[in-house]
Amino acid sequence: MGLNLDRASVLGLPVHLCADYVGWLLDCLALGRGATVATLNAEMAIAAERDAQLRSALLGADLIVPDGAGVVLYLRARGRRIKRMPGIELAEGLLERAAGRGDWPVVFFGGKPGVAETAAQRWRSRCPNLAISLVQHGYVNDQELKDFEEAIAAQRPRIILVALGVPRQEYWIAQVRDRCPEAIWIGVGGSFDIWAGTKERAPAWFCDHHLEWLYRLYQEPWRWRRMLALPYFVWRALLDWLRPAPIR
Ligand code: UDP
Repeated sequence: MGLNLDRASVLGLPVHLCADYVGWLLDCLALGRGATVATLNAEMAIAAERDAQLRSALLGADLIVPDGAGVVLYLRARGRRIKRMPGIELAEGLLERAAGRGDWPVVFFGGKPGVAETAAQRWRSRCPNLAISLVQHGYVNDQELKDFEEAIAAQRPRIILVALGVPRQEYWIAQVRDRCPEAIWIGVGGSFDIWAGTKERAPAWFCDHHLEWLYRLYQEPWRWRRMLALPYFVWRALLDWLRPAPIR
């Protein structure tokens, strides 16, 4: 598989189209190349319209996968045959398939104290060959962050999972990626909470019916304000859809 990917656009942001995103990342790893990965959903697409730093981080990402149902429906309405790739599944697929390679060290960064450690322990029991070399919670002060960045630069891991939430994780990855250019950097949001068992993923029925957001709202009602972006995304998508195509 070549490393050049076809891409579509969602409200002016790229989404890469690929039948096997995990395979693409493994090809990068095998070639000694790094990549930054973002997992786009409707909330992020709307946030990026107002947040220039987030927008620039997304435009600079090497791979953007369609994480949210809204993004997938937007693209399907434009005739793109596209399958959803939730960030957590991308990260799980990558860890499972990278597990055989002890020479691809993995870093877990983010989550409340203890969460990344529990998530890492669970991965170690599930895939004993997975080399998780560094684990750091996401509530660090400036000095601790500096020390952690030094440790990454010295260790040269190949996979760095960053669970600081949007947009913090995208800002940080864009800022420090050059300290370890051969790594795959992925913003994984709340994935450590799910692996550690402190939060639950929506049951399959909600995911299959594009309603994972509703389950999330039920689990974390304080997200309602953030989620106002969803109806706004639908509105923006409709406007985009009604707009006549430019005359060439
Ligand atoms: N988090 C963190 N440091 C912070 C703020 C948040 O490590 O300063 C973690 C938080 O504990 C949680 C994750 O970031 O594990 C955010 O998860 P969420 O599900 O909100 O991700 P999003 O929906 O933003 O992708």
